[in-house]
Amino acid sequence: MQQHPITKAIRIQTERTNEMEHSTPMFLTSSFCFDDAEEMRATFADETDFNIYSRFSNPNVKEFVDKVCALEGAEAGYATASGMSAIFASFMALMKQGDHLLVCNAIFGSTHTVITKFLPKFGIEYTYFEADKPETWEALVRPNTKMIFVETPTNPGLDLVDMEAASALAKKHNLIFNVDNCFATPIGQRPIEFGADLVVHSATKWMDGQGRVLGGVIVGKKELIKDIYLFCRSTGPSLSPFNAWVLSKSLETLDVRMERHGKNALFLAEQLEKHPAIASLKYPWLPSHPQHAIAKKQMTNGGGIVCFELKGGLEAGRSFLDKLQMLSLTANLGDSRSIASHPASTTHAKLTEEERAAVNITPGLIRISVGLEKAEDILADILQALEN
Ligand SMILES: *Cc1c(COP(=O)(O)O)cnc(C)c1O
Repeated sequence: MQQHPITKAIRIQTERTNEMEHSTPMFLTSSFCFDDAEEMRATFADETDFNIYSRFSNPNVKEFVDKVCALEGAEAGYATASGMSAIFASFMALMKQGDHLLVCNAIFGSTHTVITKFLPKFGIEYTYFEADKPETWEALVRPNTKMIFVETPTNPGLDLVDMEAASALAKKHNLIFNVDNCFATPIGQRPIEFGADLVVHSATKWMDGQGRVLGGVIVGKKELIKDIYLFCRSTGPSLSPFNAWVLSKSLETLDVRMERHGKNALFLAEQLEKHPAIASLKYPWLPSHPQHAIAKKQMTNGGGIVCFELKGGLEAGRSFLDKLQMLSLTANLGDSRSIASHPASTTHAKLTEEERAAVNITPGLIRISVGLEKAEDILADILQALEN
C-alpha cells in the first residue's frame, strides 16, 4: 500500500522487541552482538543493513533517517550530531583539493565560517553568488566547480533561491546540487523534486521543534550518501541514539506543527507589515515578498520565520528586544516558543560590517521565529515592544 510521506513519518518504526512496545524504545548501546563468527563476518562484509557499532548506525538513528528520507523523497541518508556536521561532512566527503564551490551569498553564519576559514585550508575554493539573480550564476562556474550549495529561504534575510534554475545549472555543468532545507523543512518544500542531489538539515530547529536536542541529517542520492557515510563513520560526527529517539518522535508531529507555525507567521506578517515603526518586512507567503512567485512555485508553506527592519536601526533593534515580555531572546529558531533575535549582534557577529551588508543584514534587522502560542498573544507582545 502506497503511503503518503507524512503517514510514513508517523508509522516508520524500528522492529519491536519481545516486549511488544508501541513506542520505539531507546537503544542506548555503543555496539551490537553476533551469534557466531560467520554472522559477524557476513555483517562486516555488508555493513549497510545491520547494526555493528553506533558510530556506523543504530536502530534509533536509522528510524530517524528513514523518516527524513520518506519526507524528502530521498534514496538514502545519514544522521549527524548537528546541522553543521551534516554540512561539513557533505563538503569534505564530496570535494577535494583543487575543487571549487559555488554558494549563495546569504547563508547561516557558521556555514559561512566553514566555507571561508576552513575549506581554503584543504585547497577548496569558493565563490558567492547572489541568491535572487539567477542570470548571473553561470558566469561564475569554473572548470573545477564541483558543487552548488544553497539555503532557501536564506537565514536570516528570507531571500529565495530558484531551485529549478540552480538544478538546471548543476545538470548542465555536472555539479552536485546541495540544499540546506532547514528553514522550510520537507513540509514546506521538497528540494529533490526540484532537482537537488542532496538535502542537509539542522534537525535542531523545526524538526525537533521544541529546543531540546542538537542533530543533523543528510539525505539524497544513494551514490553520494555512500561517500558521506564512509566519511562520517570513519570520522565520527554521528548522531547519538538518545537525540535520534527525540528527533524521530518529533517528526510524528512535524506536519501539524509546521501548519500552525506557518499560519501564525502569516498572521503576524500581515498585521505588522504596515506598522509605522517598521521600515520593511519580509515573509515568503506575502505578495509583497520580491520573490513571491518563486515561493509559490517551490514552497507549500511560508515557514515560521518573519523578519523586519526597524526604522530606528541598531538602537531601535536593541530597545525592541529589551521591551519584549514573552518572546524569548535566545540563539535558536524553530521552537514551539516564539523567539526574537538580532542577527547583526549574534549569529552573524563574526562577519565584518561589509560582509553583513553584502547579505542584507542591516543593523536594525529583527528575526522572529514564530512559535505555537496563540497568534494574538505573539502579536500583542511585539506591538507593545514596538511602541515608542
Ligand atoms: C542552525 C542552522 C544550521 C546549523 O545547525 P546546528 O544544528 O546548529 O549545527 C545550519 N543551517 C541553518 C539554516 C541553520 O538555521
